[in-house]
Order: sequence, then structure tokens, then C-alpha cells
Amino acid sequence: MTATVLVVNSGSSSIKYRVVEPASATTLAAGIVERIGEDGSRVEHRTDEVAVARKLPVPDHREGMQLALAMFDEVGPPLDELGIVAVGHRVVMGGRYYDGPTVIDDDVIATVERLAPLAPLHNPPNLVAIRIGRELLPDVPHVAVFDTAFFRDLPDAAATYALDLEVAERHRIRRYGFHGTSHQYVSATAAEVLGRDLAELRQIVLHLGNGASASAIVGGRPVDTSMGMTPLEGLVMGTRTGDIDPAIAFHLARTAGMTVDEIDHLFNHRSGLRGLAGHNDMREVHRRIAAGDRNARLALDVYVHRLRKYIGAYTAIMGGLDVLVFTAGVGENDPVVRAEATAGLDHLGITVDPERNAAPVGGARVISPDGAAVTVMVVPTDEELAIARQAIAVV
Ligand code: ADP
Repeated sequence: MTATVLVVNSGSSSIKYRVVEPASATTLAAGIVERIGEDGSRVEHRTDEVAVARKLPVPDHREGMQLALAMFDEVGPPLDELGIVAVGHRVVMGGRYYDGPTVIDDDVIATVERLAPLAPLHNPPNLVAIRIGRELLPDVPHVAVFDTAFFRDLPDAAATYALDLEVAERHRIRRYGFHGTSHQYVSATAAEVLGRDLAELRQIVLHLGNGASASAIVGGRPVDTSMGMTPLEGLVMGTRTGDIDPAIAFHLARTAGMTVDEIDHLFNHRSGLRGLAGHNDMREVHRRIAAGDRNARLALDVYVHRLRKYIGAYTAIMGGLDVLVFTAGVGENDPVVRAEATAGLDHLGITVDPERNAAPVGGARVISPDGAAVTVMVVPTDEELAIARQAIAVV
């Protein structure tokens, strides 16, 4: 039996899981427990042979994780017949402690717990999955793969906020970056697909999903990224503001009488595309634009303007650009965003071939013309596969 990894991604309201054979990138089983602690919670479990979906109450992550593992016994295949040699857990915040995948012991758990105030929505559900996972699967190593690890050694100039140094140090305020597993995987895959040496490339990766982030990568190492102490900073996202004048928070507190929690909710959940266009899904934004909705058009303009700003900024700090990569839901599927984000950037060597860009094909591909100074690509991300590969590498 070939070795497989059970990958667990326990988020704020869902637990995604997948059994992957890292060598061949094959998925043996996968599922999701959704709307945990909300009305309409449900589980979905699928293998090559079966797919089941069921609605049932899932009050918390503990029960969600138990349910996920129970699906293997009930629907199959049984976990002990899958050749699982490790469980890979996505952990959002590793602070300055971890720069790569880490076998989980009590010390790691204590550290992830101590870092929870920096990622209050993410580290606690990650920890529940780790604890229950270790209880129910005690015989295999559990590995933490941190969202922040790839960015741990960002240059100080990129990682430091211009804030009172003593305050920043006391409260561990710095730019940690997120989506690291995706940025690392996508930049390495881009080099591989091009048959070029990663060490020689200056790349910008635009991870445009519901959450969105950009990174500047030189020789396989990140030199800047758009998310900061939290995943709120940077690009315009499905429901998050991205970069915003921090004084807007003071203004809302003083003038509108909003509480910290209300402002937090506004910036994280009622802003971005949703705040401007009324919907967080880019497909719906396009539909509304086609129907003549001016707010939707403005939302796309703001989204694209921010992208162009980051492309320019990152090209400047790297002293040039070799590869520009689009990935995640919007990046992989939206030729309009790719075209608008790169339009008129010929002066930076960036051009996109309209036919290649619009071609309805999947997989990693080049969308710039042959011989262009900058190779523009679409590279599908696969965070679960990346987690599986990182986990198996350390066990
Ligand atoms: P997550 O951040 O939740 O992992 P994904 O990377 O799966 O997100 O991206 C989800 C988002 O991708 C959706 O909210 C939607 O805006 C966008 N998306 C998905 N398919 C398309 C498409 N065909 N065209 C444009 N946008 C798309």
C-alpha cells in the first residue's frame, strides 16, 4: 500500500478533510463538515465510488471532527485501510516560531494556543482538530503546516510596521503573512512547469480567492506579501477591506459610536466586494455589471486598481519581474480580472495574449505571448496536496 496523508483544514465554521497520496497527487477520500454551530450544518463525504451528503446538527468543532472521522467507518473506506502515515493539519498562525512543517507535540500545542490572540478565529478551531485528531488517531504523527511559515523570514523592512518599537514588540505586532502554503506551492510549480530554475526567478503570485493575497518571491524566497499581522491587510477581498486608513476605525468609533467588535465585523465581513457590490462572489459581480449595476462596476475597478498597485510595487522592490502568476478561485477562472489587472503594463514587460487568457482550459498554463519579457501564468493552487507533501516530508 502506498503512503497517504490525512489532511485536515479546520476553519472558523467548517472542517475540510482529504486523504491524499502525495507522490501521485491522488485523492482517496474527501469531505467537509460545514456550518458548524449554525443552522443547516451538514456533512459531505466522497470517494471514487460514493458521495453522501447529510444534514445534521453539529454544535461545535469537537463534534465536527468526530463526525468527519466517523464518516470513514460508516461510508468508507475505513481509515486503517488507507495507508495513512501522517495527519497534516493546516494551522493559520505560527508566529515567529515555525518556518516549516512541524511534528506536533505538547509544546507545539502550547505555542499554537499562546498565539491564539493573534488569530482568534483560526487557531482555536485548528487546535480542536489537532486534539481530537490525536485522540482518535494516536498511532500516526500529526504535523502542523503553518500558513505563516513560508513568510517567517521576510526581510525586516517588509515585516515591520512603523509603530513604536516597544509597543510592537510587547504585543508581537509585525507582518506575518498568510496563504504561505499556497504561495510556496504555486511559485515552485510555476518554475517546474516552465522548466526554469526557481533560484533564478523573480515572481509575483496573486492568490485571488475569497481571501486574497499577493507575494513577491525572489529565488523561491518571499521578500514581501500583502497580508500582515492578520489576513485583513492588502488586496480587496470577498468580504474584507484589504488596505485601509487605520484612522477610519477611530472615526467610526468616535463619530458613529461603533464598538471595536462592530468595526472588526464591518472590515472583515461586510466590506470588500460584498461591501461595494452587495456580493462577495466575483461571478455575481460580473453578472451585476452586465445588468448595468454601477456599484458592481466600481467594486471591480477598486479590486483591479489594488492589484495593479501591488504588481507595480512588487516589481519595483524586486528590481524587475520574470513571472507573474494568477491562482485560486478568481485567479484561475476569471479572464476579465486577469486582463484588466495586466492591461497597459507593457512598460513593465507584462502582456497577456487575449486568446490564451480566454481559452477555457484547466491546469497550469502560460497566458503571455511567446517571447514576452514577463511570463504571465495561471497555476491552480492545491493547498491540501501541498500540506500532504510537507507533512510526509517530516515524518
Ligand atoms: P477560498 O478563499 O474560499 O478558498 P477559492 O480560492 O475557492 O476560495 O475562491 C472562491 C472564489 O472564487 C469565489 O468566491 C468566487 O469569487 C471566485 N470564483 C470561482 N469561480 C469563478 C469564476 N469562474 N469566475 C470568477 N470568479 C470565480
